[in-house]
Amino acid sequence: MAKIKIDAERCKGCGLCILYCPKGCIAMSRKLNKRGVKPVKFKAGSGCTGCTFCALICPDCAIEVYR
Ligand code: SF4
Ligand code: SF4
Repeated sequence: MAKIKIDAERCKGCGLCILYCPKGCIAMSRKLNKRGVKPVKFKAGSGCTGCTFCALICPDCAIEVYR
C-alpha cells in the first residue's frame, strides 16, 4: 500500500491536496503548526494508490509519496 509523508511545518493549509486526492486520503488536522495554520494529515489505511497528484499539486512541496 502506498503512503505519503507530509511536512507539517512546510504546509500552509491551502487544502489543494485534499481537493485533488481521488481517494480522500488527506484531511485537515486540528492543531496549528509553527506558521500558525492547520496543516493537513494523511489518513492511514484510506487506500492511497501512490498516484502523486497531491505531491504534484502542492505549491510548497510539502508532500512525499512512497510506493
Ligand atoms: S498519492 Fe494519490 S491517492 Fe495517495 S494521498 Fe496523494 S493524491 Fe491521494
Ligand atoms: S497542497 Fe501542500 S500546502 Fe496545501 S494543504 Fe496540501 S500539503 Fe499543505
